[in-house]
Amino acid sequence: MQRICDICHKAEATRFENVMTDGRAFEYAYCEACYSACLKRGVMPLQLAQMRRARLGLECDECGWTYEKFKDTYMFGCPECYTQMRQIACEEAAALVGRERMMPDIRLTDEDAENLSLYAISSRVRFARNVRGLRFPATLTDGEDVHALLRGAFDATKGLFEAEVYPMRTLGAMKKKALIEGHYISPALAEHPLGALILQKNSEYGISVMLNEEDHIRAQCVLEGMSLNEAYRQLKRYDEKLAQTLDIAYDAQLGYLTACPTNLGAAMRASVLLFLPALNRMCGVKKVFKDLGLDRGLTVRGYFGEGSEDAYDMFQISNQGSIDASEESILQHVVLAAAKLCRLEREALKRLMAMSKCELLDGIYRSYGTLKGAYMLGGEELMSLIADVKLGVILGVLPIKDMRVLNKLIWLSTSSLDILTEGISETERSVKRARLVREIVTED
Ligand SMILES: [Zn+2]
Ligand SMILES: [Zn+2]
Repeated sequence: MQRICDICHKAEATRFENVMTDGRAFEYAYCEACYSACLKRGVMPLQLAQMRRARLGLECDECGWTYEKFKDTYMFGCPECYTQMRQIACEEAAALVGRERMMPDIRLTDEDAENLSLYAISSRVRFARNVRGLRFPATLTDGEDVHALLRGAFDATKGLFEAEVYPMRTLGAMKKKALIEGHYISPALAEHPLGALILQKNSEYGISVMLNEEDHIRAQCVLEGMSLNEAYRQLKRYDEKLAQTLDIAYDAQLGYLTACPTNLGAAMRASVLLFLPALNRMCGVKKVFKDLGLDRGLTVRGYFGEGSEDAYDMFQISNQGSIDASEESILQHVVLAAAKLCRLEREALKRLMAMSKCELLDGIYRSYGTLKGAYMLGGEELMSLIADVKLGVILGVLPIKDMRVLNKLIWLSTSSLDILTEGISETERSVKRARLVREIVTED
């Protein structure tokens, strides 16, 4: 039987040393390279081997990550860490499995489908993937491997969609801000020196891929309205191609290996962005979410950045972890929770109308009037007008019948417009925004 070196845990040992410890004999083994390296540095090979043996399972030979670093950051250094610190990884995974899961006790009805088509603004599915043998992005340094990662992720788009690559270091602050607001990239990716984005050409919706964010690859597909299953189907095709172009780190027991153990398993996040104005005004969406027990296994977030949490009555519902769940059950879980919230939104809207119909309609008509008549519009003002008008469309009291018109307007309220109009003053931009809004609203 081949004996591996006790110092590097890699090469075959050729030198052996027997030591008595507490009355028992231990054999230590060294490879030629480690043995001579020790002597050159004036270190006893035995001493180093004993140190390494004591640390067995507490550090990763591949990337040098340690248990202490894991405890500090709750992240691993590379996919190989999951093998080298197996016990720690499995204990963490087991703790995550224990998390309570809630399955809403409802079946989707026709009414739910109709509700979802009214209240769902967009649907999003995301996969996290990593490449075997490559450090996770937190400690990754530039090199041939990183180029191969980028190439592989790009090649996987071929035959699926026309893609463009944006390395973060080539982008200006304005462009980054717009990409963050459009939810194509995270603030963390914008700051990573090796960060890059692959984006579907000429399309607001579809697949986008973040490279070297927390994981090597975070691919997402976003579609308009309630289209979670379709988004999943499209992303799955990209994922299958990815498995052909790159050696994706996967473990039979732990699933896809991710920098943070919370994403292990299916390494998938499914979310639906919902517009819940009545529920939010009547009871507060976050409170309802908690009261229903949806916070077990799911999360709810405001959509437009930190601080603006409840702004504009838009909420993103997503699954939290995916370690013990199949892809299908994650999708189902999120859809059922969204349907439940939409039912409550309907009821809340009835109550709101009963309580303060005149005030509500007054707000809706005024906002609609402003959209059609304003000569200048700021981004934030536009967003709050959209929320009112959307409510009017749901109640069927406005001439706008197609919800997609409003989704187009949301785009005009973000920094995307700022990019197109870079170099002009804030006033000129507001004038331009108002003109574009008028065009969209009147063409419907
Ligand atoms: Zn060795
Ligand atoms: Zn490692």
